[in-house]
Amino acid sequence: ALTDAEVRRTIADHAEGASRARELDYDAVEVMASEGYLINQFCSPLTNRRDDEWGGDSERRMRFGLAVLEAVRDAVGGDFPIIMRISGADLMEGSSNQEEVLDLARALAAGSADALNVGIGWHESRIPTVQALVPPGTWVSYAAAVKEAVGDLPVMVSNRIHQVDHADRVLASGACDFVSMARPFLADPAIVAKVRRGQGSLVNPCIACNQACIDRSLVGERVSCMVNPRAGFELEWPATRPSATAGDVRMAVVGGGPAGLEAARELAALGHDVVLFEAADELGGQFRMARQVPGKRAFGESLFSFAARLAELGVEVRCGERLAESDAAGLAEYDGVVVATGVVPRRLELPGADLPHVRSYAQAFGSLDGLGNRVAIVGAGGIGVDLAHLLSQPPDAGEDVEGFLATYGLTDALPPAPRNGREITLLRRSGRIGESIGRTTRWAIVDAIKRAGVRSRTGVSYERIVPEGIWIREGEGEGQSLGGEPTLIEADTIVVAAGQEPNDPLSGALQRAGVPHRTIGGARLGAAADAVRAFDDGWRAAHELTALAAAA
Ligand code: SF4
Repeated sequence: ALTDAEVRRTIADHAEGASRARELDYDAVEVMASEGYLINQFCSPLTNRRDDEWGGDSERRMRFGLAVLEAVRDAVGGDFPIIMRISGADLMEGSSNQEEVLDLARALAAGSADALNVGIGWHESRIPTVQALVPPGTWVSYAAAVKEAVGDLPVMVSNRIHQVDHADRVLASGACDFVSMARPFLADPAIVAKVRRGQGSLVNPCIACNQACIDRSLVGERVSCMVNPRAGFELEWPATRPSATAGDVRMAVVGGGPAGLEAARELAALGHDVVLFEAADELGGQFRMARQVPGKRAFGESLFSFAARLAELGVEVRCGERLAESDAAGLAEYDGVVVATGVVPRRLELPGADLPHVRSYAQAFGSLDGLGNRVAIVGAGGIGVDLAHLLSQPPDAGEDVEGFLATYGLTDALPPAPRNGREITLLRRSGRIGESIGRTTRWAIVDAIKRAGVRSRTGVSYERIVPEGIWIREGEGEGQSLGGEPTLIEADTIVVAAGQEPNDPLSGALQRAGVPHRTIGGARLGAAADAVRAFDDGWRAAHELTALAAAA
């Protein structure tokens, strides 16, 4: 516990920080009294066990936050806006109840706060708050309750609102006065400007993956954005301008997944004539699978946005054209080629792997209805877990606010029933379920599939596939000998999601033909590729090939 002197010193530190912000020309300060940080901890009976003037009943627990507000007001003066950010609910067992949260809001409003920003939960909460599986708009009702409590004082809502048109609908509902966004500005700093210009389709939307932002911030790594690799690197990588060779250079991009899309977009932004070849009938690569998963609708929005931006930049998109090694010579007419041909699912080397009820994950995502009721998924990395999530959740789970709140016990309603009553079993040789999923998302999605009844077995070896299912042998734990009795996991379909291999029919031939090229994303890295690397590869390849063309 802080001593009384330390408490007073900390209040003064907040005031000092706010006063520096004003000196540095910021337009307002927001004081973080939410998400389990210090002021929130003082308010909560869960963490505030003091018996002096800063602890005890609810009124005394609020004192620290109110003292910070007034000290900040004294430091910045009466004409400088102060926003107080509070948690609309702590989502922690034993923490402040709803009435105490609203009492705090009223007390801050009666003090000198100019606005309240309503966040949600603590970082320690076991209810997901900002992950993709949280339906957009889930937390609006918590801000609305605060708004009702404080009357005329402006109230903002935060978290899981990532599109401007959604924000407009929230404001039109009267639930609150402002919408506060963070991640959408990392994905596209011009989000508001584009919408104001009537170019909303050109906004590069945040997909709530957390992989390059929150996941990194929690371990002190530099924050960026998956879909906008320049975020956080603006000083090293100035804004894209047409290159010196703009208009004279023709570039080909082979593959329209995330890596190829980003390469084509950046090459076109650099002023080149760009042709994008995609083997499938539609752009998107692995994003086309992901967009079906509950909570990942924004992956589809990302693809819409790419299509619109490529069109705006004049990229010639040629879907349905699969290029083979023999096409490499024809690519010599371009000044540079990006090979972004992605991955192919790794085959399972196992007796019975050729039986008709064995599918790759790509086949499974493409034909969900044909999988039957009992599905065994071999491989429980990100793709296997996504597939289990998709097969086990109601189709609208990613959008169903009421269903989400009921599932996590935040209303009295019954949780929605799992999808189709399917029996799904995830199997993994070693490591944890969903090992490759980002740290802020893995626990939430593993919890969600468990709630939906998905069973998982790790530390298994695969014996053989038979018409009735798959025989496995279980060990007693990771790294231990697999001495258990063989067990049949009965299944109508066995889906293999046991990794990927690079799919690169072109790089060797381009090398031999002396065509300047870059191989990126899954075509370069195979199983080690992830979407963050894919976008980053695409961006860098565009600049590297531009430099080569300029030097040629
Ligand atoms: Fe959004 Fe993902 Fe970018 Fe973070 S890394 S801002 S969650 S798209």
